[in-house]
Amino acid sequence: MVVVFGDGAANEGIFHESLNMAALWKLPVLFVCENNLYGMSMHVDRATSKLPIAQRAEGYGIPWHYIDGNDLLLVYETMRQAVDKVRNGAGPVFVEAETYRYFGHSKSDRNLYRTKEEIDEWRNLDPILRVRRSLIETGIMTEEQAEEIDQEAIKVIEAAVDFAENSPEPDVSTVEEFVYA
Ligand SMILES: [Mg+2]
Repeated sequence: MVVVFGDGAANEGIFHESLNMAALWKLPVLFVCENNLYGMSMHVDRATSKLPIAQRAEGYGIPWHYIDGNDLLLVYETMRQAVDKVRNGAGPVFVEAETYRYFGHSKSDRNLYRTKEEIDEWRNLDPILRVRRSLIETGIMTEEQAEEIDQEAIKVIEAAVDFAENSPEPDVSTVEEFVYA
């Protein structure tokens, strides 16, 4: 089982209860903390007594990793190894991936608690842009090919939005379908 949660959730009591029970019963759980630096409008530095959050797993005897969540290959490799370990019955593993939330917590959030410069800096570290730059720099892909992929992705997204907007409302009896994998 993979449990994904944010930096804000890591400060709730049930977080600790879950780590304790998972470790005690050696449950096959991969805890993934997506630390995007903000819980609603609160920066993680102002809400969390000790960073990284992943270090808390140490207190429960759970192996942990604290990684750059915007580094695609590092995320892939870390998760691959973590999943293998969990599947092999060694008990839970904890991964904290540091990343960033570009948008507000909700539609009414106007980002008044951070600067535009901060958001722009992180946008420059976007994982998709980093992979794109790296593939072009290493000659694996040309700028034109990257642009083609972008355009193709835009088409797929537009078609999906179009499909959703033009589909009838689903029946309430289907509300739990595809919720659990
Ligand atoms: Mg968050």
